[in-house]
Amino acid sequence: MMLSVEQIHSYYGKSHILQGVSLNVAEGEVVTLLGRNGAGKTTTLKSIVGVLRPALGKVLFQGDNLAGLASYKIAARGVCLVPEHRGVFKLLTVEENLTMAARRESAWQLQDIYRIFPRLKERRKNGGGQLSGGEQQMLAIGRALMTHPKVLMLDEPVEGLAPVIVDEIVAQLKQIKATGMSIILVEQNLEVCTQLADRHYILEQGSVVYSASNAGFLADDNAKDRYLGVN
Ligand code: ATP
Repeated sequence: MMLSVEQIHSYYGKSHILQGVSLNVAEGEVVTLLGRNGAGKTTTLKSIVGVLRPALGKVLFQGDNLAGLASYKIAARGVCLVPEHRGVFKLLTVEENLTMAARRESAWQLQDIYRIFPRLKERRKNGGGQLSGGEQQMLAIGRALMTHPKVLMLDEPVEGLAPVIVDEIVAQLKQIKATGMSIILVEQNLEVCTQLADRHYILEQGSVVYSASNAGFLADDNAKDRYLGVN
């Protein structure tokens, strides 16, 4: 496994939010974390990258336990979160946003980012604040790639975007997957999830209550209804 989360417990103050979450992602695999609002999906991502330190449990990455390390050390190992509110620098140009994220040893160069996201190349001299919501999302993903991640985690990458832009981002994420990237995706849009993922996990009240292959999940109307209230 590329990354294995083993029985993590995380708190906000005294609120015990994650109650023993376990999941894993293999090299080149895309897994989703699904679940209703407040189930603990974002908290799981934050606990993996060390923005929130798990009180108990392990985050094993290529054999080492990352739980408890400072978040910059976890990022330097190659576990990268693209947060929900995108984190683009509005006063810098697109190209500056990308180059300032670059790591010297990164296999990802500007031209690789521009190949996947041609809109970013067109907009490279524009300020981050002049981009549409979809373009900002693309830039946030591009910035993450420039840091040379081995595991890319995306929190609701298509939320609030128009369907045509959603399709564009799905196609781009497929290209990133095809490079062999391991991806953990939190996303409410099930259509997007089932187009991209190999496996799914469903969280409920801070625990994993269900997991299945993509084909298994697609065929399981009962699970969709019971855990997600759809179908
Ligand atoms: P959503 O789609 O609503 O973001 P989620 O599954 O990502 O759902 P989390 O954001 O992980 O859910 O939240 C899990 C629980 O933790 C919720 O009950 C939420 O109210 C609580 N929570 C989230 N952030 C904080 C915080 N900063 N301080 C205190 N409680 C929080």
